Amino acid sequence: MSLKIHPDIASLSPYVPGKPIEELQRELGLARVIKLASNENPLGSSPRALAALSEGAATLHRYPDGGAFRLREALADRWKVNRDQIILGNGSDEILGLLARTFLAPGDEAVMADQTFVIYKMEVTAAHGKPIIIPLKQWRHDLPAMADAITDRTRLLFLCNPNNPTGTMVSTDEVELLLARVPSHVVVVFDEAYFEYVRSRQFPDSMAYVKQGRNVIVLRTFSKIYGLAGLRIGYGVATAEIINFLNRVRPPFNANSLAQRAALAALGDDEHVARSRAVNEAGMEQIVKGLSILGFSPIPSEANFVYVDVGRDGRTLFEAMLREGIIVRHIEGSMVRVTVGLEEENSEFLAVLKRVIQSH
Ligand SMILES: *Cc1c(COP(=O)(O)O)cnc(C)c1O
Repeated sequence: MSLKIHPDIASLSPYVPGKPIEELQRELGLARVIKLASNENPLGSSPRALAALSEGAATLHRYPDGGAFRLREALADRWKVNRDQIILGNGSDEILGLLARTFLAPGDEAVMADQTFVIYKMEVTAAHGKPIIIPLKQWRHDLPAMADAITDRTRLLFLCNPNNPTGTMVSTDEVELLLARVPSHVVVVFDEAYFEYVRSRQFPDSMAYVKQGRNVIVLRTFSKIYGLAGLRIGYGVATAEIINFLNRVRPPFNANSLAQRAALAALGDDEHVARSRAVNEAGMEQIVKGLSILGFSPIPSEANFVYVDVGRDGRTLFEAMLREGIIVRHIEGSMVRVTVGLEEENSEFLAVLKRVIQSH
């Protein structure tokens, strides 16, 4: 009844995730549904991770290792940093929330792009910070404009690279110019959820900035190429000082025991990662080619999804495809994001898209 809700919270809308496969099957009585909506790995999880999960069942009555000793050790080893430079999250989403709560006092500013990952704005607003939104330029982060937007109140700058939903990236040279202009009271958040898919040699080595002791944090996740989205586990790498502050607001058992085990096993499964990259590369080529044959011009992507202007109301197209059992993501206006799937899923997507655009 007479709830007293802060206007910042009232201004938010609940996050709308990609429609789950089972839900669409229930709603439409469809036998076969193809989900290309949430940038998940179409090959599934690493088999090694699945084996580790069964072993983990024996200790589910115990709390997880709150310090995640083994996983942080393995990550420290992988990235050649110290264990105290790593934080785990219940998905890297959680770390975005920890960053907002740790670094933002009410009214403090966080610079971010539009369009970019929608969680930044949500977490900043929920922490009573002020999102400062800089439009993309030709679908890419406008780093000079983002640097111009920094003030004495700025505490965070979010750089989603490759960017979701556009799939575009910014290069080492561009990032160097940005960092040269960022004062030390601003933490630059390199959100690299799609890092393992990137092919470009111009992609910045953000871990090097961590090692230089700069105020940056690199976020990676086990949800995308490692195929563990359902377990919820991601990590951040930064200076020990930044990690120490984040640990003050981190819930003690935020990374569950199964997730820790599976992530550790997945991290060592280079073969699954390599196969996933190869499947993505071939699938990306297939989708981009198929879309251009249909007259569309998808934005060149470094990730495992493509962003495309479908030249008509994207919502209507999304719904028409849903009725045919294909789940894509309508982002806004005529823009739709499609995750690269397995070869037969991509073919089916292209066939249904063709039918849908011909009948509208
Ligand atoms: C998917 C994604 C994440 C990670 O999500 P988690 O599942 O919470 O680890 C983070 N940032 C971006 C840009 C993403 O697309």
